[in-house]
This record gives sequence, C-alpha cells and structure tokens, in this order.
Amino acid sequence: MTTATHPYDALMDITARPKAVFVRGAGSYLWDDSRKRYLDFVQGWAVNCLGHSPSVIADALAAQAKRLLTPSPAFYNEPSLKLAKALVEKSAFDQVFFANSGAEANEGAIKLARKYGSLHKGGAFEIISFEGGFHGRTLATMSASGKKAFEPLFEPKVAGFKKAKLNDIASVERLINDNTVAVMLEPIQGESGVWPATDQFLRELRALTEAHGLLLIFDEIQTGMGRTGKLFHYEHAGIAPDIMTLGKGIGGGVPLAALLATERASCFEHGDQGGTFNGNPVMCAAGLAVLAEVGKPEFLKQVTETGLLLESELQKVSARHGLGGVRGRGLLLALDLKLPIASGIVAQAFEAGVLLNAPQLDSLRFMPALNVTKAEIAEMIGCLDDILTKAGAARRVA
Ligand SMILES: *Cc1c(COP(=O)(O)O)cnc(C)c1O
Repeated sequence: MTTATHPYDALMDITARPKAVFVRGAGSYLWDDSRKRYLDFVQGWAVNCLGHSPSVIADALAAQAKRLLTPSPAFYNEPSLKLAKALVEKSAFDQVFFANSGAEANEGAIKLARKYGSLHKGGAFEIISFEGGFHGRTLATMSASGKKAFEPLFEPKVAGFKKAKLNDIASVERLINDNTVAVMLEPIQGESGVWPATDQFLRELRALTEAHGLLLIFDEIQTGMGRTGKLFHYEHAGIAPDIMTLGKGIGGGVPLAALLATERASCFEHGDQGGTFNGNPVMCAAGLAVLAEVGKPEFLKQVTETGLLLESELQKVSARHGLGGVRGRGLLLALDLKLPIASGIVAQAFEAGVLLNAPQLDSLRFMPALNVTKAEIAEMIGCLDDILTKAGAARRVA
C-alpha cells in the first residue's frame, strides 16, 4: 500500500472533476466544503427528481433503515412488493425486477429478450439499437450503446447488437432478420445530447415490431418517472412497449432501478436472474416515496408547465445571443449553441455558482429537479445570459 499524497488520489481517476467537495444539498441547491452555494440544473444527472435530500425520501430511508435493512434476496420484503405493485398499476407492464443501476436494469432487459428469443423465436438473439444511444457501462450495455467513444474500448464487444438510425424506420427494417428478437431505444437520447425520437417514429416502431413478432424495449432511465411531463415517456406516443427500464429518478438520489415487462415478455425462469441487493427494502422505500409524489397528476401537470417555461426562456436566450434551437421535452432540454463553447460555459457557470451540463461540445443540457421553481429558472437564465454576453463581447473583440 502506498500512501496517497492527497485524498483525491485514493479514488481511481475515471473522469475530470472540479476540486470542490460537496457536503450538503437542499432542493435545487448544493454546497461545497468552502460553503459556496450552487444552483443545480444537473441534479446528479437527472437523478434527484425531488431535489436534494427531500424530507420525504430522507424520512422513508431512515424509517426503513431502522426497521429492516435486508432479509436476503431469497425472501420477500414489504417495500419491494408495494413498489412493484404500484409501478404495475401505473404502467402498461405486469411484472417488475428491481436492480441497483440503470446499466444493470438494461442488462436484465437484454437477457430477458434473449430468453424470449430462446423460448419463442427459435433462438433469435439480435437486438437492434441506435446510433447515438446510451444504455450503460457494463460490457453488454456498452455494446448496445451507439456511442462513438465506446467503439474502440474493451474489445471484443458482446455480439448481437446492430445499430439503426433514430427516426429512420427504413434503417430499422433493413436490419431485421431471422435472428432479430428486439428493438431497444431511449425515446429521447439523453447522453448524446437530448435527441428525441418523434412520436410518429415510436408508433412506426411499435407497428414494425408487432408485424415481425419482435419485442420493443424502451430505456426510460432518463425519460421515465415524470421527467417529460408524463410518468413514462411512451405515454406521449400513445403506444406501449413490451419491456421498459427505469433508473435515475426512480430512487430520487439512491441506487435503484427497475426492469418492467408485460406478462408475455416476462419469461425468466428460476436461476436466470438475481442479485444480492436487488429489491433491497431500503432503496425500495425511497422508490415508494418518490412515486407517491411524482405519480400525482398535479405534480406531472406542474412538470409540463415548468418545462414549457424553461423551454421558452431558453428560446429567448437563444434569440438574444443568436444561438440555435431548443430540443427535448418536459424538464429534459438541450440548447444548441451552434459553436463548440459548451464546456467553457459550464466552467464559467460553475465559477458563478450554477451547475450545468454539456453533453456535446456545442450544446447544454438542462435536467433540474422536477419541482424546480420559476425563481430558480430565472436565476439560472440570468447567469447564462451574463456568460453569453461576455462570450459574445470577447468574440467581437477577437
Ligand atoms: C444513465 C443512463 C443509463 C445508465 O444508468 P446507470 O445507473 O448509470 O448504470 C442507461 N440508459 C440511459 C438512457 C441513461 O440515461
């Protein structure tokens, strides 16, 4: 054991991080160890749907932690039964398997599709996914992802994934063969920069997969749990997939994810799937607290209204500074900057005490708490305006 020269050095260096250490959060605000306050429009990557450390989640966690941490995955526990029942009642699906991360839920979706292929489609195993898609960082979910930067990594990839083009139904149809078992996509590609599938494309995909007897898998890890103004994004298109995965917002800040399937698609047999912490009662208690809030019709209506406000404010910013369009839905939005200045803006916003995200060199992504206030939106827009005004002045001088 060597002694780390600095506490940072004891963690594997897997990404560039600012040196600040975050110690406290409340609602839309975070504080670092120098007591600097930040307005947070990233929220743990669209995770903290009720903001930082809401008391409904903190209380649910504390109460369940005192009652029972885990009985073992071989036994039932109350919170996981209740959460599964609530999710089934509020969705188009019949059964749930809980996971600890989005990637693990997607890994489960891939396994479930392959199982379905072995039972009902003569061993078909190929899954059509999409260029620009992101499904996680396990080997199979990296293979399912259509992220360019993943291509050279950790070869050989898991076989059996073919990539179609989003919003191009012919590109999907061309890839279907006797080995195909499913089509898998994010209804809005989040990590690659908030690129929405059109509702029309989603309906075409549903018709195409039905015509070929294929499973349709929606990765709603970023779009689910109210993020787009409906509890689940598929509701916008008026269709229902066969399999859906949830993550991020479902735990409101703790590691919880879920794999949901219709009765027809839910075909795991004993021994196919499992995991030590899956369906852990403490995490499921947090999930129940989140769903009790986010599942309310008036909460979802509020998300839609706040999303429209943020969208129109971003459009005004764009008009004032000569930038591009605004993409996305609800409170998952991106602003096209038309220039590769996104990381500079994120760094300046950080200095000014506002947390923003740059999914691409030329775009900013906004994923605030679903209960973000108008005043907080105004504060963020003010900061963005200041930065863009300075950047514009600098470009004019240069
Ligand atoms: C974040 C994300 C994942 C991966 O979830 P993890 O919890 O990081 O494993 C998968 N799919 C989508 C659409 C995501 O946004």
